[in-house]
Amino acid sequence: MARRKKIYEGKAKVLYEGPEPGTFVQYFKDDATAFNAEKKDVIEGKGVLNNRLSEFFMIGLETIGVPTHFLKRINMREQLIRQVEIIPLEVIVRNYAAGTMSKRLGLEEGTRLPRPIVEFCYKDDSLGDPLVAEEHIIAFNWATQQDLDDMVALALRVNDFMSGLMYGVGIRLVDFKIEIGRLWDNDFQRLVVADEISPDSCRLWDIETGQKLDKDVFRRDLGSLSDAYTEVARRLGVLPSNATHMPKPTLIN
Ligand code: 5GP
Repeated sequence: MARRKKIYEGKAKVLYEGPEPGTFVQYFKDDATAFNAEKKDVIEGKGVLNNRLSEFFMIGLETIGVPTHFLKRINMREQLIRQVEIIPLEVIVRNYAAGTMSKRLGLEEGTRLPRPIVEFCYKDDSLGDPLVAEEHIIAFNWATQQDLDDMVALALRVNDFMSGLMYGVGIRLVDFKIEIGRLWDNDFQRLVVADEISPDSCRLWDIETGQKLDKDVFRRDLGSLSDAYTEVARRLGVLPSNATHMPKPTLIN
């Protein structure tokens, strides 16, 4: 069998050429990194959980009419996605202050924001993904004003969907990051949610106890990352098909 062509390898995922034109296979690794890859580890099973969780969120978004790059799950670690042109921006939505916003503005983590706030960071590891203003985005041609308006609208819809979903299982969606891609249909472009949505890219706190159930567990050495992600998956009813769910083998006579 011919080896698959690797298109791109990032910190947590690998993209391979897909079986049909216009598709990629997205492979979820177990690698965890933080602080621009200064802190690294391998968390067994993280890739499997994030593959399932991202699938779950993307299918839900599609169901309510938010377009995504997701096509179907292939196996425990891989999903088939549409090939999109990634806009080089991280779109962050915040409902409560935390992380870099708390540091930048001196706000206590957990402070409720007056409304969801959308921020853009320029995707460039060598610069540490700096926060940028809409002025930079338009002046440097990373996106148009129309794209920006569409990106904000898309990000806020994702926020409403994810906040409600998480609230239903006793989790507060503090903030999250998405990436958005352009999907071309001749000269017509559509913006779709791309990359992944998982506890790697969200802040998720238990509503009752405040316990962190996201990548901050790894960033801040707060315990087992796989236990935290498994808890999110369990509450949402999304768990990888594992031994506990496998039917018993039957004897073939
Ligand atoms: P902060 O700016 O506070 O570090 O992050 C805000 C939110 O965006 C958090 O939920 C964080 O997980 C997510 N985020 C920001 N940058 C990245 C990134 O480079 N990769 C991932 N996976 N998530 C990020």
